[in-house]
Amino acid sequence: MTSTASSPIDPAPNQHSATGVEKPATMISLQGVTKTYDGSVIPAVDSLNLDIPEGEILVLVGPSGCGKSTTLRLINRMIEPTSGRIIFDGEDVTSVNPDLLRRRIGYVIQQIGLFPHQTIAQNIATVPRLLGWDKAKINARVTELLDVMGLPNDFKDRYPKELSGGQAQRVGVARALGSDPAVLLMDEPFGAIDPITRDRLQNEFLRLQSELKKTIVFVTHDIDEAIKMGDRIAILGEQSRIAQFDTPERILAYPIDDFVADFIGSGSTLKGLNFERVRDIDISTSFPVVSHDTSATEAKTVLDASPERSLLVLDAKSHPARWLNDKDLAATPADLLAAGVEVTSTLPMHATLHDALEELLMSNAGQATVVDNSGVYQGIVDIEVLADVLKGMRAAARRHYEVHVDSAGQS
Ligand code: ADP
Repeated sequence: MTSTASSPIDPAPNQHSATGVEKPATMISLQGVTKTYDGSVIPAVDSLNLDIPEGEILVLVGPSGCGKSTTLRLINRMIEPTSGRIIFDGEDVTSVNPDLLRRRIGYVIQQIGLFPHQTIAQNIATVPRLLGWDKAKINARVTELLDVMGLPNDFKDRYPKELSGGQAQRVGVARALGSDPAVLLMDEPFGAIDPITRDRLQNEFLRLQSELKKTIVFVTHDIDEAIKMGDRIAILGEQSRIAQFDTPERILAYPIDDFVADFIGSGSTLKGLNFERVRDIDISTSFPVVSHDTSATEAKTVLDASPERSLLVLDAKSHPARWLNDKDLAATPADLLAAGVEVTSTLPMHATLHDALEELLMSNAGQATVVDNSGVYQGIVDIEVLADVLKGMRAAARRHYEVHVDSAGQS
């Protein structure tokens, strides 16, 4: 396996797309793959060409019945293709023994599918046992995986029915990682879990993946989960036709057609704000700001010279403290910190622009103040700044599609 091909430190020059965004090597390639189930006339998957990038999460998302699960199962030949070829790490595996293939590919499903009469340790050890690992090695691996998944060691001897849904799902992921496969297939893995636990499992899994860097194909029908989990997303239509294949940022900024636009829904533009952080944009530093020991008359001069309708007062530590408008200053308060409206919350530099939008909609000033780690004022984010960022994202995505002729967006 060429595990260094997608290294962000030393990417091969030919791994870059025209926009400079790194494009990793392909781990698995489906070439003209068709599946027609026995008794059906219409293929569930029709002539699918799909390159699965190495070391990333590729999400297959699309309406129910469009062929996502069938596509996933074709990858490890749980379902045999009617025609087409499957290339795994450069090798044509279309006709190798499917058992051998499956041992190199972990599989996680909704409702977990743990073996009820086996202990957690036995469940996690399933593939290592098949591979003939010795007891000591299996035991060490089980201990390691329980730890990685944040599960206590004494879970080893428990049975699946003794676990909560979230714990069982973690064991399901641990079992799929048992033999340290390069590839994981995940079919709606968090679909049957309550929303709060689901969010936590998604976050844990993303943290884990940032270390493991497995090649993952993740199926969901939920566009929000796709946006959150995917390094890349393939939006599928009927018979697994790829409607758009791209990063979540670009799909949100530039849905390729009406089908994709409808599927991602009306809030898609704003969802794009989740991908940008305050520290990465030009925050406005021209907003009128005065120190708490400035006189009301001086402060008024500052506000009059500015196009803004209010100014910001910083306290002795340079933390944002009060918003003051013309009227507040006209009363010539002796102490600026006792006048106007209190600044009730601030944005750290690592906040997303979506956080910033919420903050400025909630603030009574229409602006959000940005602070560093010590709470010291850095600048302002306002609605114009956010609108400019969104415009920039749309323009960049459009440029990307102008230089890439492939209609599915595969660059
Ligand atoms: P999705 O995962 O997107 O919901 P599926 O891959 O499960 O879609 O199904 C795609 C199509 O194939 C559907 O029309 C479904 O009814 C059909 N299908 C799925 N599994 C079978 C099967 N075992 N036998 C016959 N038809 C099937």
